[in-house]
Amino acid sequence: MVNSATRIAIIGGGMGGLTAAIALTRIAGVQVTVFEQAGKLGEVGAGVTVAPNAQRVLDRLGVLDQIKRAGATPDGHGVYQDARGNVVTDAAWEDSARQYRNIGMYRPDLIAVLAQEVDPDTIRLGHRLSSIQTSDAGVRVEFENGAREDFDAVIGADGIHSVVRKAVSQFPEPVYSGYIVYRGVVDASLLPDEWPMISQVWMGDHRHFMCYPLQQRKLFNFVAGVPSDRPLAGDWSGPAEVSELAAEFAGEDWDPRLHRFISAIEKTFWWGLFDHEPLTNWSRGPITLLGDAAHTMLPHQGQGVNQAIEDSMALATFLAAADDVSDIPEAFRRYTSVRMQRTAILQHGSRRAGAMFDAQYEFADLQKRDADLRVGRDFRRSAVFDYDALKVAEKALQNSRRNQFA
Ligand SMILES: Cc1cc2nc3c(=O)[nH]c(=O)nc-3n(C[C@H](O)[C@H](O)[C@H](O)COP(=O)(O)OP(=O)(O)OC[C@H]3O[C@@H](n4cnc5c(N)ncnc54)[C@H](O)[C@@H]3O)c2cc1C
Repeated sequence: MVNSATRIAIIGGGMGGLTAAIALTRIAGVQVTVFEQAGKLGEVGAGVTVAPNAQRVLDRLGVLDQIKRAGATPDGHGVYQDARGNVVTDAAWEDSARQYRNIGMYRPDLIAVLAQEVDPDTIRLGHRLSSIQTSDAGVRVEFENGAREDFDAVIGADGIHSVVRKAVSQFPEPVYSGYIVYRGVVDASLLPDEWPMISQVWMGDHRHFMCYPLQQRKLFNFVAGVPSDRPLAGDWSGPAEVSELAAEFAGEDWDPRLHRFISAIEKTFWWGLFDHEPLTNWSRGPITLLGDAAHTMLPHQGQGVNQAIEDSMALATFLAAADDVSDIPEAFRRYTSVRMQRTAILQHGSRRAGAMFDAQYEFADLQKRDADLRVGRDFRRSAVFDYDALKVAEKALQNSRRNQFA
């Protein structure tokens, strides 16, 4: 069995890396060290939806109550509507058993909740990974600050620009979608009292706008997707003027309620949307990937973090079943094969959802788009929200044991 003498390095202290640290400690009982390049743990000032499929994992890890206290559960299902605000369909917001419902979280709050569950002595800030070498003795990680350390295994939770990914294989660079999003939060007190406490998406020609409540309903998150060639000119994100955002949604083609929401925005920033085709492999020996490092996806299904949380549960389950340190590469191989299938579907589904929101779906046939959105709602509940990462991993382990003794 792997145990508390088994030393695992997690590169990246984002939402994926911190969840992995909790899962690996609590389920596999191994010793983790999290290396984060930044001088302190943090996240951009925007929201994220923690979906039922991730809540199932967080519940088992014992952190769901803290997340519920910090977040906001909407009053009911969300809505997809056209640019003028006519409702096309309702959006899935709970699992079939109605046990878990979407929670809107302010990202810094989610990081804070997760970080509280990790032993602070195991988090090394200001450590930017520069190289990884494997040897018979394990894996050596080296950092730009000159530090170096040896581990039994390494997990790359270092996001879209992952350095660990390069140690697994040479993969193509992420692809720019042609769209940026303006992101940020609005103080809920600046909105009319009757503003609905639900998630809303307005879908227009080549652009969409989404908002939902966060932080015990004190804040609203917003994400506004528009086409742009900005990231091609340099950075992937940066500060932006609210007036630029407002100009993208100006005019009578758009719902006056949306104009009212935009008038409450005081600050925003832009973010280029990138993804990549599903990778053909996530692991090499005692090195594996998790979260955006493994499966960057467009944000239109709100599943990037939720998949990193599922990854963490699956990885911990396969590791817990490893006989000893020499069995870790096989545990990583099993993890990879189960998770790659799941996340590839969501990577493609997120591109499809973006085309729907921006009216670019199936040759801009809006009737078909609307019909498929309705079908998609039920698929989302059963295939995305009902997924149980622990059960799927356990079943894969049982099957592999059965095959071993057949
Ligand atoms: C507009 C938008 C909305 C989204 N909404 C949702 C949503 O509602 N729900 C959802 O599930 N997902 C959503 N996502 C996706 C989600 O933000 C990502 O999937 C998620 O942040 C990935 O987490 P991660 O921990 O894998 O990577 P990251 O959050 O990128 O964290 C990586 C960490 O690694 C550190 N790091 C990087 N390189 C190094 C290095 N060399 N050495 C040491 N540390 C390093 C970084 O500093 C960072 O802390 C959205 C994304 C966008 C753009």
